[in-house]
Amino acid sequence: MKPWENYIRRVEPYVPGEQPKNKNVIKLNTNENPYPPAPGVEKARKAFSDDSLRLYPDPAASSLTEALADYYGLAPEQVFVGVGSDDVLAMAFLTFFNSEKPILFPDITYSFYSVWADLFRIPYERPALDADFRMVKEDYYQPNGGIVFPNPNAPTSLLEPLSFIRDILDHNQESIVIVDEAYIDFGGESAIPLLKEYDNLLVVQTFSKSRSMAGMRIGYAMGNPLLIKALNDVKYSYNSYTMNRPSLVFGVEAVKDDAYFKETLGKIIKTRQEAIEKLTELGFTCLESASNFLFAAHKTVPAEKIFKELKEEGIFVRHFNSARIDNYLRITIGTPEEMEKLYQFLARYQ
Ligand code: PMP
Repeated sequence: MKPWENYIRRVEPYVPGEQPKNKNVIKLNTNENPYPPAPGVEKARKAFSDDSLRLYPDPAASSLTEALADYYGLAPEQVFVGVGSDDVLAMAFLTFFNSEKPILFPDITYSFYSVWADLFRIPYERPALDADFRMVKEDYYQPNGGIVFPNPNAPTSLLEPLSFIRDILDHNQESIVIVDEAYIDFGGESAIPLLKEYDNLLVVQTFSKSRSMAGMRIGYAMGNPLLIKALNDVKYSYNSYTMNRPSLVFGVEAVKDDAYFKETLGKIIKTRQEAIEKLTELGFTCLESASNFLFAAHKTVPAEKIFKELKEEGIFVRHFNSARIDNYLRITIGTPEEMEKLYQFLARYQ
């Protein structure tokens, strides 16, 4: 080993879902939206002038933060945008989790949390979900350096009501609580209204799922202006120009078209209901989902076997080889046609 190798920061990286080169697959493995972005996005793309790319983008991303603030009835000083919610969450970990006390997040949750904590050397504890994969609120009453969890949780798809979030906030006035609402638009109640009452709450959302723009990389955080300023101070100490020009223009277009947004959500929620019924008929149990994916286990056939056989068939779903969830498949809700092909294949396991 070379001496300088001792100075390398060692991290065990997060492993994103596979993005197959072959376009002929049915991709139900990374919770993307099967429908295109709002029509205004394509219009804006066609009108977009390459000449503007010579110039740096607005470092404050004002057009987008203002559009989001307007949409959610907040002040622009309450909104921070970043390169997908992964970027926003990473920045929030770096900004807000600076205590000697451990931060808390569930043992079964978005696996990026422990990666950021390790990267930034933040101590953490992971209270176990109960036997029904639910968070136990009392586990979050202990002293901590911050709390983060997704609602709905991933990969379980289970939603907690606002009363649960309120309870966590009431018991944690001394630390910052981040609610990761990547999937909230698919049937949950957002914690945004609680921002009026709790100045230690940060709500994080994304354009990747409900707004069909995973490829554009836009995420955002909402919180009291003090939290948002702290996030911006860290951002400007790291990379001033996180948002590129196209993402600022296309992001605003996506926010403008609320009718399309709601229509797409309605389609996915309808297909999700059909999928639960169909998968149940096919011998699966699905957790109650408030997201654009299902967490499903077959009564007799191991998930890993189904996962591999589906993949050979060109149908990609996600399987996590970790304790308690290794017999589950996480299946993104696709179009009705894509789901039909999935059901046809799964019929062999009945
Ligand atoms: N939070 C959760 C719970 C997620 O599942 C994801 C998607 N992998 C993200 C955040 C990040 O999504 P993005 O960076 O595309 O906004």
